[in-house]
Amino acid sequence: MRLRNIPEAAPAIEESPYVFTEEASAANAGSWKSLFSNNNPLYIEIGMGKGRFIMDNARKFSDINFLGIERYSSVLYRGLQKFEAEDPILKNLYFLCIDAKDIKEYFKKGEVDRIYLNFSDPWPKDRHAKRRLTSSEYLDRYNDILSADGHIEFKTDNRDLFDFSVEEINNHPLWHIDEITYDLHNDSKMNKGNILTEYEEKFSSKGNPIYKLICSR
Ligand code: SAM
Repeated sequence: MRLRNIPEAAPAIEESPYVFTEEASAANAGSWKSLFSNNNPLYIEIGMGKGRFIMDNARKFSDINFLGIERYSSVLYRGLQKFEAEDPILKNLYFLCIDAKDIKEYFKKGEVDRIYLNFSDPWPKDRHAKRRLTSSEYLDRYNDILSADGHIEFKTDNRDLFDFSVEEINNHPLWHIDEITYDLHNDSKMNKGNILTEYEEKFSSKGNPIYKLICSR
């Protein structure tokens, strides 16, 4: 998701007590739970866009700690504006304005209990395959930060990206697929409690099937 540059976004994010930029995120590695002053599980969404999914989750599950990750300040800023308009403010959600390729700098081993990847950028050119958030390079990074019984949930409407992801997981020595559907919204089991993302609503309303998988080690 690219938005036109919003000049006020970067300073607003720097000043916000709800957003951690690179340096502050790295400083919190290993101590995210103390930020929330509780011992609840920590779920992250990588590439949250404008944050509808993670905000709806935080509202629904007050006993889970959430971190929304987005690398573009202009995109994150749109989510932050919605977040700050909430009354009362959600106490179980913060945002990280970072690039997930360096995710190991921001979390200690096993610190994360669940990773959500929703409608990740497809990077269609073969030479950019390593940038896909479900590439084996990313699966290695997730292996480091995810707790032993944690898992990844991935949704997309992009069949090529989904097929690539299935292959990367199946070829990886550590990861395996636990559940998979090629039509989430018509799969009563996997769709139970499904929380829509902005892209999911947009693409499913055009008639695109939504693909989802859950994988773990
Ligand atoms: N998850 C949202 C949804 O489903 O509506 C947004 C999907 S949008 C296509 C993907 C988002 O992931 C973009 O906002 C993009 O900037 C972000 N993103 C892509 N690669 C990223 C990375 N390496 N680190 C952090 N954010 C990333």
